[in-house]
Amino acid sequence: MNQTERRIHFEFGMVNRGYLWNFPKADGYSFGIAAFSNRGAQNLRKILADYAQLFQVDLSNTPHWGHPISLWNGNQKLHTHNALLAGEAACLVDPFTAEGIRPSMFSGIKAAQAIDEALQGKSNALETYSQTMAQEWGKEMRWAQGLADTFYSFPALGYRLGVKLPSASQTMGKIITGERKYSDVVQRAIKRLTFFRASSALG
Ligand SMILES: Cc1cc2nc3c(=O)[nH]c(=O)nc-3n(C[C@H](O)[C@H](O)[C@H](O)COP(=O)(O)OP(=O)(O)OC[C@H]3O[C@@H](n4cnc5c(N)ncnc54)[C@H](O)[C@@H]3O)c2cc1C
Repeated sequence: MNQTERRIHFEFGMVNRGYLWNFPKADGYSFGIAAFSNRGAQNLRKILADYAQLFQVDLSNTPHWGHPISLWNGNQKLHTHNALLAGEAACLVDPFTAEGIRPSMFSGIKAAQAIDEALQGKSNALETYSQTMAQEWGKEMRWAQGLADTFYSFPALGYRLGVKLPSASQTMGKIITGERKYSDVVQRAIKRLTFFRASSALG
């Protein structure tokens, strides 16, 4: 890959129930592999090394780091007496993309507003924070989780019907930037994936 290349790369299919990425950096690359807990036994280091080879990068002498990511898995109570949970500690990471920065910032803003209101004497401000996060983030994440279940069960089909289509990538870009909502687009995407899966199973 040319060092001036600005495109980000994602790969779906080499890793079971997960994906790989290559983000360009000013002085190199950031390669990564993410896989869900139900991925089964896989050699993630080897898959990552094979992926990097596609970009003529040898990972054998580079440092590796591994981190668990706390994906959203249902709404939770995020408040207690004089305390709130925000960010990844509140398990807000998108279960489809593993995007965690945006929900962390979003919850941080909502938490700060709730704390400010509580300090001004609003007795249910912290409780309202939990409700707001369920309403404004959890509602969307339910759809993201549904999409993840379907997509990562049949990644080849998901790739063909989703990732490879320019319109689908654009839609995903709009979801990540907050211009569109999962709830507006996912129902159709899941139906499409399920329909094509059923059709191909029938031959
Ligand atoms: C490999 C990897 C790649 C990722 N890629 C993306 C991506 O491309 N896009 C995206 O949106 N998300 C990505 N994520 C997820 C995203 O990074 C996290 O969800 C997000 O950073 C969480 O933000 P946060 O502020 O809640 O927590 P953090 O960013 O983890 O910040 C918590 C901070 O608290 C500090 N801390 C911890 N304990 C204490 C303590 N006792 N006292 C004081 N400080 C403490 C930590 O050192 C840390 O600085 C990725 C995650 C990983 C692991």
